[in-house]
Amino acid sequence: MTKFRFQLEAVKGRMRAGRLVTPHGEVKTPIFMPVGTLGTVKSLDNQDLESLEAQIILGNAYHLYLRPGLDVLKQTGGLHNFMGWQKPILTDSGGFQVFSLAQASTSGSSLVKVTDEGVEFRSHLDGSKHFFTPEKALENQFIIGADIAMIFDQCASDQASKTEIAQAVKRTYQWAKRAKIYWEEQGRVNVYGRYQALFGIVQGGKHLDLRRKALKQMLSLEFDGVAFGGETVGYDMEWSARLIKELGSLVPESLPRYAMGLGRDPANIVEAVKAGYDMFDCVGPTRLARNGTLFVGSLEISGQGQPKFISEFKKGRLNIGNQRFAYDQAPVDSSCDCYTCRSGYTRAYLHHLYKIRELSYYRLASIHNLRFMLRLTYLLRRMIVDN
Ligand SMILES: [Zn+2]
Repeated sequence: MTKFRFQLEAVKGRMRAGRLVTPHGEVKTPIFMPVGTLGTVKSLDNQDLESLEAQIILGNAYHLYLRPGLDVLKQTGGLHNFMGWQKPILTDSGGFQVFSLAQASTSGSSLVKVTDEGVEFRSHLDGSKHFFTPEKALENQFIIGADIAMIFDQCASDQASKTEIAQAVKRTYQWAKRAKIYWEEQGRVNVYGRYQALFGIVQGGKHLDLRRKALKQMLSLEFDGVAFGGETVGYDMEWSARLIKELGSLVPESLPRYAMGLGRDPANIVEAVKAGYDMFDCVGPTRLARNGTLFVGSLEISGQGQPKFISEFKKGRLNIGNQRFAYDQAPVDSSCDCYTCRSGYTRAYLHHLYKIRELSYYRLASIHNLRFMLRLTYLLRRMIVDN
C-alpha cells in the first residue's frame, strides 16, 4: 500500500521544493490546488484539469456530505471514481463551512450549536439538522476517499475576543486528539483500502502566542502535515507570511505546510512560497474568472535571486468587461501557455463572450486563471530546484 510521504528536494532561503507521495500519485510542491468544492471545478471537466496540469484538487466534505451525499459516494466507489479523476484529492473537513454558517446567521446561534462533543448545525440547503463530531468528520472523508483529509477544527472569527479564540484553539486540540485516535483505529485506511493522510490545523487568529501553542499541540500528534487556517490566512498576506516566518522553524522539515484559502492574487502565491509554505488553495482564481477578472503578469527574479510578481495591471488583474478590451487583439497574457491564450482567443473575443454571458466564457476564463497560478508555482519550483 502506498503510504503518504513528503520528500523535501531543495531549499532556497525560506523557499522549499518537494514532492508529496500519495496513493493516487505524486504532487510536486510548491503547488496551487484548484478548488472543486462539490466534486467539480466549476465550468471545467477532467480533460481541462489535465491540460492545465492540475496535480491535486480539493473537495469539501461538508458540501459533499450534503450533495450528492455519502451514500452515493460510497456506492460509486468514492469521489475519485464518482468524478473520474484519478489524481490526488484533498478534502477539507467542513469545519470552516459549519462555523461560517454560525457567523452568517444573525443570532449567531440559531444555525449552529457547539459543544465539547461536536457541532450541531442546520443544512444551508433545506434546514435539516446534522451533527458532526471529530470522528464523524473523519469518517465522512474516509467515505469520500480523499488522499489527504483535514481534522475537524473550530474556527473562530478574527473579530472574536482573545479568550474566545483561545477557547477555539483548546477545543480544536481536544478534537484533534480524538481524530487521531479514530484515524489510528481505522488503520489510517479509507473505505477503499487506501492510506489516507491526515493534516492538523493551526488556528489562533492574529495572536502569535496562540498560534505557537496550537502549532506545538498539532506537532505533538504527529499528523502527516500541518495547515494554517482561519480568516487571516490568505486574506491578510502580510500576516500570513509573518506567521510561517515566525513559526516555520518549529515545523520539522519533513512536514508539508499548507496555507488554507491562500491564492486570490498571483502575487500572494509568490509571497507565500517566499515565506516557506508548500501548498495553497483558493476559490479566488475561478470565482474571479467568472466575474471577468483575469490574471496578467510575470515572475521576475531580482539581483538577490528573489522572485517578484510584476504586472502592468493592479494586483495582476484585468477586467475583461472593460470597454478598452473590445478591440484588443492580444491574448489575455502573451506569456501564458494555457489553452485559452494559445488557441487564438483574444481579449476582444473574451470581452464579447463575457458581455453576452456565453457559457464558453466561464470555461476559457477559468482555464486561464488556474493555469496562470499553476504555472507560477511551476516556475517558482524550477527556480528553487535549479538553484
Ligand atoms: Zn492563459
